[in-house]
Amino acid sequence: MSTPSASTTPQATAVAIAVAHGDGIGPEIMEAVLTILTEAGAAIEPRPIEIGERIYRSGITSGITDESLELLSATGVLLKAPITTPQGGGYKSLNVTIRKMFGLYANVRPCRSLAPFVPTLHPTMDVVVIRENEEDVYGGIEHRQTRDVTQCLKLITRSGSERVVRYAFEYARANGRRLVTCFTKDNIMKITDGLFHEVFREIAREYPEIENEHLIVDIGAAKLATNPERFDVIVLPNLYGDILSDVAAELCGSVGMAGSANIGERFAMFEAIHGSAPDIAGTGTANPSGLLDAAVTMLTQIGQPNVAALVRNAWLKTLEDGLHTRDIFGPQSKRCLSTREFALSVIERLGSEPSVLHAPPLPAGAVPVRTCLEPQAPAALPVKTRLGVDVFLDWNAAGDAEQLARELGAVGVPLTLEMITNRGTQVWSRASTLTRCVDHWRCRFVGKGEVSGADVMRTLTELDRAGFDVIKSEGLYAFDGTPGFSRGQGQ
Ligand code: NAD
Repeated sequence: MSTPSASTTPQATAVAIAVAHGDGIGPEIMEAVLTILTEAGAAIEPRPIEIGERIYRSGITSGITDESLELLSATGVLLKAPITTPQGGGYKSLNVTIRKMFGLYANVRPCRSLAPFVPTLHPTMDVVVIRENEEDVYGGIEHRQTRDVTQCLKLITRSGSERVVRYAFEYARANGRRLVTCFTKDNIMKITDGLFHEVFREIAREYPEIENEHLIVDIGAAKLATNPERFDVIVLPNLYGDILSDVAAELCGSVGMAGSANIGERFAMFEAIHGSAPDIAGTGTANPSGLLDAAVTMLTQIGQPNVAALVRNAWLKTLEDGLHTRDIFGPQSKRCLSTREFALSVIERLGSEPSVLHAPPLPAGAVPVRTCLEPQAPAALPVKTRLGVDVFLDWNAAGDAEQLARELGAVGVPLTLEMITNRGTQVWSRASTLTRCVDHWRCRFVGKGEVSGADVMRTLTELDRAGFDVIKSEGLYAFDGTPGFSRGQGQ
């Protein structure tokens, strides 16, 4: 078949990309996408890797072999079809493994309405959600500390926040976007989410041509759900991003239509946002649009924006012509196509322009990642001063805080008991009689000004000797004189 390809513009030598055909509908949609890319003249050299269900069931709980990991390292790019993660059996999420092993710190999910060809209540919605991808509660650091209490550690770092926030602004700049919005819950998590917000404020100043705003995530989510048109680029910590990127994709009616990119310093992974759809696997009816959308972003990332534009225009024209797969087939459609027929229709339209679905121009190349890794002006390290220690005790849930304070006072430790909280709420020296207590007591010990590590260690040792069950301790530090710890609720 002879089609107008981007090969009219000379392409660089073929770029090796790792390609995973995945499970369920994966192989069908991957074949469709690779055929379109080849016909469009993409200068790529696909190197297949096997990941997913078969690998999991062979006993490799990560879902990927060492050879495949080596190939990923060598290519630096993965186009990935969805996989099936078997239920139970200690199988690890392959996506989380790849994200962590290759430092994919930004998850980019464009959510753009394709109305009237894909029905949505928000026909002009065009939002890009950029989610921090490595930190927050996704470190998987969880503990059961007492019979009653479990804990998950939320880690937010300045360096991690800087990377993703800078990437969001660089993305906005490269894609001609006007506004970057940050969502956090820093009215409650003043230190962790507060840091993300503070970094956002600092970095926003470096991009004066781009508007910026911050919203508390609850009201932000409500506005996103009711008025997504007001948003442009949204950057947010991992957990909020995980939830709200799905909400945004659903709002524009296109969970089955959208792709996403996972971006790292030396590696990027592109995939559809939907799963392996085992219910329709093998029927030849799957919609390849989500994976194709991801492949278009990949082409831009590897420096082939002309081919990317060619493919995207042909895809949009196919949708405009009412040629739809079964999942989006409706009164707005003309013909219901199989996966293969849909791919051939896109190929036939290579060189055509859409007339209704005008997509924003694609950036000339990859969003500069290096810039995202280098703080513009590295600040001097703050002075760190130890002020005390929070000691967490597994102690009688039915006990009363006055009694605990008396028992602690009798131990004879070098530091002074300042406060006791239970699930974060102060129960001593001031207390509400209505606070429900559990078997998890935080006892704050401080000195007069700076205290030594030896005093902290002696405090812990003496408490242990006196028979207290010390389950954890947390150092209390000030940085340049600002306390780096929260107060008890009610303190
Ligand atoms: P799913 O996205 O696979 O399917 C949800 C519904 O959408 C199904 O009715 C399916 O038929 C339909 N659908 C999805 N993609 C479609 C497409 N391209 N064309 C037409 N219809 C499509 O979600 P699920 O059923 O919850 O998950 C199935 C499997 O996929 C699970 O094993 C899950 O773990 C896995 N999964 C993988 C990824 C990934 O690899 N990135 C992501 C999500 C889910």
